[in-house]
Amino acid sequence: MEKLIDGIHRFQSGVFAPHRGLYEGLVAGQSPSVLFITCSDSRISPSTLTQSEPGELFILRNAGNLVPSWGIHNGAEAAAIEYAVDVLEVRDIIICGHTQCGAMTALLGPPDDLAELPAVANWLKHAEATRRVMRTQYKDVSSKEARLETCIEENVLAQIESLRTHPAVFAALTRGAVSLHAWVYSLETGGVAAFDSEAGQFAPFVDAKREPAKPLTSAKLRSI
Ligand SMILES: [Zn+2]
Repeated sequence: MEKLIDGIHRFQSGVFAPHRGLYEGLVAGQSPSVLFITCSDSRISPSTLTQSEPGELFILRNAGNLVPSWGIHNGAEAAAIEYAVDVLEVRDIIICGHTQCGAMTALLGPPDDLAELPAVANWLKHAEATRRVMRTQYKDVSSKEARLETCIEENVLAQIESLRTHPAVFAALTRGAVSLHAWVYSLETGGVAAFDSEAGQFAPFVDAKREPAKPLTSAKLRSI
């Protein structure tokens, strides 16, 4: 705790005070342009990763960066998505998975491994589509590392489809008000790969000059 309290003191004197104008502006309200959905994993910091300032990202986090489909579990996730799209009018929604994801490792493992973690097992049911894609389309992939890497990518895409079931998102997509982006952050390199809907695959943002990947704007299902 001491480290955190120390950090608060350093934030107040070294960050808040010199940028008082920015923080005073945020008192009146927020107008982030991005809803950033990612894993609860402590190794990802969305603001650091995208070099964003306070007020720029509306962030939704949970184990495995999952988006429960509309109607099944209209809880915190549905509320945050609805508010971001209808009230804040975000223009982009990013679902960002990450390498070495514990939730995806658990999803690929034997169900018995989660016998003592019933809440986690129940939550991972929202990744059932991912589990089935892995079981049916990648059963020949034997390498544990390759399976996990594929599972992480397929899960981001499955959650994008789930996102489309939310009425606020679907309506915003049909009027061209929002774009969807599937990203995977690499803990190993610090790089981010984005799904390119035209190329049908994830490709890294190599450098700042690279053309951004074609976002998933249409409600059309991707072809696998
Ligand atoms: Zn994770």
